[in-house]
Amino acid sequence: MSTIFGQIIEGKLPAEKVFENDRILVIKDIHPVAPVHLLIIPKKEIAMMQVAESDDLKLLPEIFAVAQQMAEKFGVADGYRLLVNNGEMAGQTIFHLHFHLIGGRRLGPMA
Ligand code: AMP
Repeated sequence: MSTIFGQIIEGKLPAEKVFENDRILVIKDIHPVAPVHLLIIPKKEIAMMQVAESDDLKLLPEIFAVAQQMAEKFGVADGYRLLVNNGEMAGQTIFHLHFHLIGGRRLGPMA
């Protein structure tokens, strides 16, 4: 796999892993924008949301369930943001699909 996240998934780069199963890895963001900032990463190399195929989209319920579990685990179940940056115009910098789970402080308006 070619991206930083691909290398983390393959164990070639270190990361602070907080959850892992056969399909999904969750790590702490290296530059957190809030007290809780996790990255929920499907292990399959999907460049971005917009190119996810119908089979890939079947992962979404599990990703959302993992987000709920992580929100409980990290004490932000009462308020958090789950977001995807799709494409360079939206601020995507790593072209391996990932969901940001951000919380632990009052979050400002979007964009
Ligand atoms: P995006 O801009 O949506 O592509 O998000 C990429 C995120 O990955 C940013 O929030 C970065 O801080 C984060 N990031 C970059 N490299 C690493 C890394 N080695 N470990 C954990 N998070 C990282």
